[in-house]
Amino acid sequence: MVEDLNDIDMSFDIPDNLLDEIQHNIEHIIKTFDVPEENKMEVIKQINYIYTRTKYLSVTDNLTGLANRRNFESAFEKEFLRAIRYNNKLTLVMFDIDHFKNINDTFGHPCGDFVLRQISNAALQTFRKTDTVFRFGGEEFVVILTETDIEQAIIPLERFRKTVETLGLTYQEKEVPVTVSIGACQLTPDIKTKEDFLQKTDETLYKAKNSGRNRTILANRSEVE
Ligand code: GH3
Ligand code: MG
Ligand code: MG
Repeated sequence: MVEDLNDIDMSFDIPDNLLDEIQHNIEHIIKTFDVPEENKMEVIKQINYIYTRTKYLSVTDNLTGLANRRNFESAFEKEFLRAIRYNNKLTLVMFDIDHFKNINDTFGHPCGDFVLRQISNAALQTFRKTDTVFRFGGEEFVVILTETDIEQAIIPLERFRKTVETLGLTYQEKEVPVTVSIGACQLTPDIKTKEDFLQKTDETLYKAKNSGRNRTILANRSEVE
């Protein structure tokens, strides 16, 4: 159990729909266990914290603080269905750190972790608040660009790629060169399922890797210069 609630960082945002769900569940517990009036506030506080923290951890990547893969699966399904239903523009992006294995091998695993955090921060700062950045796995990330077509995606994607290229990271006084390869794909009528959409985006990233890395490739387009 939580030792002292005052020591706990409660600064993460709790979405409104989650607050309603928590409130509902707490009321249920209070009723079920017939909690005495004088303990109610403390019990509510503790359940609220534990519930929220657990929910937060279940959708967050521990190393980078980004939304995690589980979070991606549900967000992607929602945005995919929404875009089809309302005919909204939607662009999916995958990016992957170039030769990341070399970074681990040359500078050590803790340096690799440091790079993952720095790239995550750069991504959070580059994309809009309405665009969610996810850690998809290892050194691979996904970004969902809502209300964005492929033309509109070019500017932030290239800005991000160049930001990473010029980050000038140093770890234990050694320069760590880092670049990313980026693949992006706009939702078009020929894409029928979210699995197809993801696969097409992944294939585009693969093209960026195969054509030399440190570049942005758009599905069905030529390379961005
Ligand atoms: P490419 O340019 O083709 O993407 O080459 P790469 O070396 O980046 O790709 P590869 O898939 O060969 O290597 C990925 C490496 O990422 C291997 C794995 O150990 C490392 N990795 C995955 N997750 C973590 C992590 O959380 N921390 C660290 N430090 N390394 C990780
Ligand atoms: Mg890689
Ligand atoms: Mg990879």
